[in-house]
Order: sequence, then structure tokens, then C-alpha cells
Amino acid sequence: MKKILVLEDESSIRSFVVINLRRSGYEPIEAGTGEEALRCIQQHPDILVALLDVMLPDIDGFEVCRRIRATGSKMGIIMLTAKSQEMDKITGLMTGADDYVTKPFSPAELLARVDALYRRIGGGDNGEDAISSGPFLLHLHSRTLDKNGEHIRLTQTEFSIMKLFMNNPGRALSREEILSAVWGEDYKGEVKIVDVNIRRLRIKIEDQPTEPEYITTVWGFGYKWGY
Ligand code: CA
Repeated sequence: MKKILVLEDESSIRSFVVINLRRSGYEPIEAGTGEEALRCIQQHPDILVALLDVMLPDIDGFEVCRRIRATGSKMGIIMLTAKSQEMDKITGLMTGADDYVTKPFSPAELLARVDALYRRIGGGDNGEDAISSGPFLLHLHSRTLDKNGEHIRLTQTEFSIMKLFMNNPGRALSREEILSAVWGEDYKGEVKIVDVNIRRLRIKIEDQPTEPEYITTVWGFGYKWGY
């Protein structure tokens, strides 16, 4: 969800950074050269933050930063600078970087900067406010669903079922499991209510409700979010 570009040519530093980011819930995209980093950004338009090392074998980190900004991108950029690069810090900030971290840095120091930048550009909240799966985007605060950007009206029950499915992609959920998760453990009614709601949901979200591809039936058991 929270994609972050890590541009660093020294593989030991890169993997150290990547491991620590991954532990904190980020999804690092790795690049070893400036050109590679620019390609990664084109391939992953949802990258919200980039960590750019300055000293690289091809174009340097400042040039990468300039080229990112030249595309009109507003992604957060943190430069990774060496101690000797006093002037570089200033230049880095002037060419459009948001922040810089001086090597050697501790994981805690780097993560504090990354988290803060994510909060500033709103990435942290977006990551937790919505669940996406295939063409669907489920907004958890407004409790609404979009399919390919088109709004789909859901009842509160349908919303809860969608949330359960989208949080468990590819997992077969029994009718009883769906019933207790959505209607509550104390619900005394029949499990058939699950089927009734699934049928209605399919009409709303499937391209062809009679041949569902998102909510698939697991015969004799329950349903699965098949995306
Ligand atoms: Ca380097």
C-alpha cells in the first residue's frame, strides 16, 4: 500500500533500509541507479515517497530529484547525503527535495523522517482509510464503494460484507463466519440471510451477476473474494 522508492547503489545500505521500511509497513521499490529509479517511478505511479542517495554511478541523486520534479510530481523526496556533503544538503533542498538524512543514520532516525513526510503529504491516512482490490475501492470512513471510479450504493450490511471480503482476498469464508462477523455473534436468525445479501451484492458489483467473478461460491461452504 505505502510504496516507497529506495535509490541507493550500495546494496548493503539499500537492503538495510529496505528491511527496516518493510518492518514498518512500507512497500519498498528498489533501484541501484538513477535511470533505474526513474523507470520505477514510471512503472509505479502510486509511489508517494522517494529516498534518493546522492552519489551514484550514473546520474546523481540531485539530477534524479530534478527530473522527478520536472514531470510535475509532488511526491515526497528525502535525500540520503554523506557527512562531507554540507553544500549538497542545501543544493538538495533547493532542487526540490523535502528533507535529507545524513549517513550514517539509524533506522529509527530514517523512519521518523519517512513517517513525518508521509503524514504531511497525506499518504499515511489514505493507506488506512480505504481498501483497494481490483477495480474496487472501499472507503472506510464514508463507508462507500467505488468500482472503476463509479460510486455504488451499499446498505450498511453490504458494506460490512465487502469489508470482510476485501480484507480476506482469496480466502474461503464459511456462511457462519460471514454471519458472525457481519451480524454479530449473538445473531439468532438463519444463515440464509447471508445468501440473500450476497445475491443483492452481486447484482450491484458484478459485471454479470449470474456468472460472478468477484464474489465466487465455494460449494457447500460459503463464499470467496476471488480477486
Ligand atoms: Ca552511493
